[in-house]
Amino acid sequence: MNLIYLDSNATCPPSGTHLESLFKKLRACSGNPSSPHAIGREASVAVTIARRALAKAMEVDVAEIVFVSGGTEADNLGTVGVLNYNLTLQNDIQHAITSTVEHPAIRESLVYLNKSKEIELTHVQVDSKGFISLTTLIASLQPNTTLVTIMAANNEIGSIQPTKKFGDFLHFMRWGIARSDHDKLEFENLALHLQPNVTAEVLKKLHFHVDAVQAFGKIKNDLWFSAGIDSCALSGHKLGALQGIGALFLRRGRKYKPFILGGAQEKSRRAGTENIPGIVSFGLIAAEICSEVWWQKNSAMEQLKNYFYKNLYGLPGIEMNSSLENSLPNTVNFSLRKKKLKAEDLLVELDMQGVCASTGSACSSGANLPSHVILALGKSTEDAKNALRFSLSHSNTYAEIDQTISFIKKYLM
Ligand code: PLP
Repeated sequence: MNLIYLDSNATCPPSGTHLESLFKKLRACSGNPSSPHAIGREASVAVTIARRALAKAMEVDVAEIVFVSGGTEADNLGTVGVLNYNLTLQNDIQHAITSTVEHPAIRESLVYLNKSKEIELTHVQVDSKGFISLTTLIASLQPNTTLVTIMAANNEIGSIQPTKKFGDFLHFMRWGIARSDHDKLEFENLALHLQPNVTAEVLKKLHFHVDAVQAFGKIKNDLWFSAGIDSCALSGHKLGALQGIGALFLRRGRKYKPFILGGAQEKSRRAGTENIPGIVSFGLIAAEICSEVWWQKNSAMEQLKNYFYKNLYGLPGIEMNSSLENSLPNTVNFSLRKKKLKAEDLLVELDMQGVCASTGSACSSGANLPSHVILALGKSTEDAKNALRFSLSHSNTYAEIDQTISFIKKYLM
């Protein structure tokens, strides 16, 4: 049976061509990058090439890329690591702001710190389509806010958050820099929502972290990235690189307290011998992201997603949770609203037909918990338990989507 893989937000499996070029490269770099000999130098060069590719794809400096084990670690460093670092500078209780739809990599660590009374925490709500309001976010800033962490795009429903606008706003408030008079006027109006004691100095100290695990490589940087962003989390396996590799973009001058000590790797920001296969794999994908061909494939994927969405929209028994606008080019999410039909059963049915999808984020699927993202949209627990996510990759075809649609329609009959 030919499998139809529609779970790329969980992991996008590496293509055969990727694996072939990866193996070729790995044959030439089997050493330890810290070793002071030819074999070590080869490995070190391979890391440098990958770092350059990733920095180019992100349009940042090479020194601002820290290779880590994945999105979860990058998210932890850009949030908990930053809060821990601040503890060494001040004793005041720190305030953090996040949204109600974040991935557990952010959500659970901040809730843990909040429960253990280490930080104050504000969750900014989203509207019924999954978008935060910029004015609410700005009004939530306090003089002791040291961390704002918002995802660029949601892994379950694909909603793209205004991380670019908020970053640009911070940049303007911190340094008075705006790209145009129009932006300046908009930021001055947004600033009216700030509490009076939230000054430029407060905003300069604040760290703005963005979870870009689903956004990077799926939507162009100018839709989500900004000079006001201090760090962001990236993950290789969402884009066709190996699992177990990610990166933190950390803006020059920003600091966190490392979790792993014991070596000078990654400029002492992440000790331990580098994951060479993962880093080289991520570098190869980053080089592809820099090419026109990558973005042409992305547009084709988006058209296919829109075709899928339009064919499901309005079917009796289906309530769409994802939107077409301002959304990832690969993610479709809906809840089953037909008595006695359960998302889990449809998932099993699809699996038997060779279609791989998911009931929510990979971390919560299997646990049959209602999705916190669907609940945050204001939908019922039933909707949140009966949500299904389909996430496409560059390699999906119209024939695969037609087949999936016909399986879903049959199930609904
Ligand atoms: N953030 C988001 C939005 C994600 O979707 C994921 C994974 O699903 C992560 C973070 C964690 O990334 P990783 O699986 O690389 O640890």
